Amino acid sequence: MALLNILTEGEETLRKTCRPVEKVTERIRTLLDDMYETMLHAEGVGLAGPQVGVLRRVVVIECPGSGRIDLVDPVIIRTEGSQVGREGCLSIPEKCGIVERPMKVTVQALDRNGKPFELTGEELLARALCHEIDHLDGILYPDKAQRMLTEEELEELE
Ligand code: ZN
Repeated sequence: MALLNILTEGEETLRKTCRPVEKVTERIRTLLDDMYETMLHAEGVGLAGPQVGVLRRVVVIECPGSGRIDLVDPVIIRTEGSQVGREGCLSIPEKCGIVERPMKVTVQALDRNGKPFELTGEELLARALCHEIDHLDGILYPDKAQRMLTEEELEELE
């Protein structure tokens, strides 16, 4: 596995729409592994293709208690309720915003072997699923944030 470079806000790649993978090859599995290692190293809970400069619909997520989740060509098929809370992004370092997301999200995707599956997440996992899938369409959380946290609020979090 290898650590990948994480692109930050301002990079054109983060604003592009990603192509579907359709066929999960060894190259895609290697990409997922590298993304997972990169995410852990950066202490994030999710990472999407464009964040490492790859315009394909691939996402890795690991929230507390969720275990590792690999998503290829993920699509949100159901949402329920809503939650308003803090959100950050590895591509927007040292910032935080308040974003409304569904409380519960069901996603359909391919796994790392190309097999279709469904996954339902609540709370932080639902938030991560929405956030990462947005990345695949060039959407960053500040686009949807009610507001960004102030310097004072960020300092209090540390
Ligand atoms: Zn992000």
